[in-house]
Amino acid sequence: MTIKIMHPEDLKILRICVDCRQRFIFHSDWVDHQLQTGHNSMKKYDLLSGEMIISLDNRIRETV
Ligand SMILES: [Zn+2]
Repeated sequence: MTIKIMHPEDLKILRICVDCRQRFIFHSDWVDHQLQTGHNSMKKYDLLSGEMIISLDNRIRETV
């Protein structure tokens, strides 16, 4: 039996891989995807509002 540890953003944030457009609602699935494919760019969307959430890294870059 495997125990899945929930991340605080699980089921609230939708992650979409920029490279292959796969969607992830579990942070652990995204981490697995990064390890398996080497893809490391993703967009985050708020599942409730559907709005894109800009990551902290992007926000810093965009304000420069
Ligand atoms: Zn990918």
